[in-house]
Amino acid sequence: MRRLFQFRGGVLLKEHKRDATAQSVQPATLPKRLVLPLQQHIGEPAEPIVAVGDKVLKGQLIAKPMSFISAPVHASSSGTVVAITEHPVSHPSQLNAVCITIETDGQERWKERQQAVADYHQLPPEKLREMIRDAGIVGMGGAGFPSHVKLNPGQKAVDTLVLNGAECEPYITCDEMLLRERALEIIVGLRIMRYALQAKRCIIGIENNKAAAFHALQEQVRNTGADFIEVVQVPTVYPTGGEKQLIHVLTGKEVPAGGLPLDIGIVCHNVGTAYAVYRAIEFDEPLISRFVTIAGSVARARNLEVLIGTPIIDLIKECGGNPSTLSRVIMGGPMMGIALHDESIPVTKVTNCILVNATISDVPLASKGSFAMPCIRCGNCAVACPVDLLPQQLYWHARAKDFDKVQDYNLFDCIECGCCDYVCPSQIPLVHYFRFAKTEIWAQQQEKILADAARERHEFRELRLERDKREKQERHKAKRAALTANPKTKAGDSKDSAADAKKAAIQAAMKRAQAKREVNNIPPKNIDNLTADQQRKVDEADRRRSDDQAETKVKATPQTTNQANTQSKNSTAQDSSQ
Ligand code: SF4
Ligand code: SF4
Repeated sequence: MRRLFQFRGGVLLKEHKRDATAQSVQPATLPKRLVLPLQQHIGEPAEPIVAVGDKVLKGQLIAKPMSFISAPVHASSSGTVVAITEHPVSHPSQLNAVCITIETDGQERWKERQQAVADYHQLPPEKLREMIRDAGIVGMGGAGFPSHVKLNPGQKAVDTLVLNGAECEPYITCDEMLLRERALEIIVGLRIMRYALQAKRCIIGIENNKAAAFHALQEQVRNTGADFIEVVQVPTVYPTGGEKQLIHVLTGKEVPAGGLPLDIGIVCHNVGTAYAVYRAIEFDEPLISRFVTIAGSVARARNLEVLIGTPIIDLIKECGGNPSTLSRVIMGGPMMGIALHDESIPVTKVTNCILVNATISDVPLASKGSFAMPCIRCGNCAVACPVDLLPQQLYWHARAKDFDKVQDYNLFDCIECGCCDYVCPSQIPLVHYFRFAKTEIWAQQQEKILADAARERHEFRELRLERDKREKQERHKAKRAALTANPKTKAGDSKDSAADAKKAAIQAAMKRAQAKREVNNIPPKNIDNLTADQQRKVDEADRRRSDDQAETKVKATPQTTNQANTQSKNSTAQDSSQ
């Protein structure tokens, strides 16, 4: 029997789980349109590889990941791509995001799938991670972190793989129904993940209010003889399903602040993720559907197996909800869910629950804000916080926009569980302030990254200009030094030497021409017995040649000629003076 530990804080909540677990899970009706956001996960959004008008098959890749921390998107059914544009999505900011819209053809025609993997042990762990990545599997407990990344421990050894079946928020029962109805598949998926991680053992944690799921799992573990898997019931205290809280309850170990479970040799995955891994490896089936709880003010609260991209309004109608009376729809549970601003928002890979028109007492987060009163410093929030934070201090500093101080108080350790909200007698929407502060800090960090990059570019440019200037100065200095060392060297010397070289080349060419002419002066042959006319022509040619030579000599030696002229003039002068 495993010893269990208790995390500090937490709250006891009304469960509201009976209605939705009263009947088995059915597939939801195929919608006319599927809206598939390019970002349904943590990391970079995927990039579309289809265009408007393209026909697609069920399971076909329609958007590919753009980095390691990203996930592909697949068509959830066959049909035609009718839009790739911004569409409302579930996000606290209520901003739209780019989605691929498929008009379904009702035929559910699958893409061609690979044969089932006969024995995954024959594949290396990296191949399994690759298959899991290609299937677009992300953490289905709500975080949406790409599973292939979480299944890659790198150089770190994994001792324990924890499977999280502690679905602790009120109303949500999709994991419980999955555990009840697909227990064997979950065990197979868990074994595949264990092999990918090379983990020594596995622990499945289930809250003690899910007896049917617990027994179903125990039976399958027994049947498969997997003695390295332990199924453990944990107390039903909110938020036991938090990753760090469940790890502490099961092992007594604390994940370090700002660290990961892997830092203490543990990896934690959701039961839905294990099921998706099973489908991917055994059937080459990407993540295109999931179990979703539809609860609250609907005639038939239940769980449906829903294609990713199905508009939530379709599910509300299918469960007997009245579209004309919708006042508040929450995606997720009442503690951590997001209030939706548009009913055309689609189900994504991380949508676990659609909560329709939940009443004020049921939904602590949604009820607060308009009734908020001043903080009375009662300290209830600090007692309830499972992460040992001081929510009232975080609240003061977040409200004052003192973002350095909120970080000093470990804002980023807050898991946004809402326990502090729930117990606050002043009904202050504390988590709202914490989310606001986190968003502002992330935005500031992003701005700082951009500003740092711009400053680095500017500093590099300044350095380059400074270096160029210094090098120029050094060149001038070296030249000046050379001039000082050899005063005869003048600035125009290089120009003169070029002119001298040119002159020398001309003279050499003239010498070559002269030599040629001298060769040509060799008396011509065959000049005997010439006629008078021939002799006259020869004489004329000789005369022209000798004239040319004389002229060339004059041109070639102007100095000599000038000297000769001068001498001639001088001699004339001397003659005349005599
Ligand atoms: S529970 Fe509310 S009123 Fe009490 S200290 Fe915290 S924030 Fe203030
Ligand atoms: S929301 Fe954050 S601060 Fe509030 S109880 Fe949960 S972890 Fe603590």
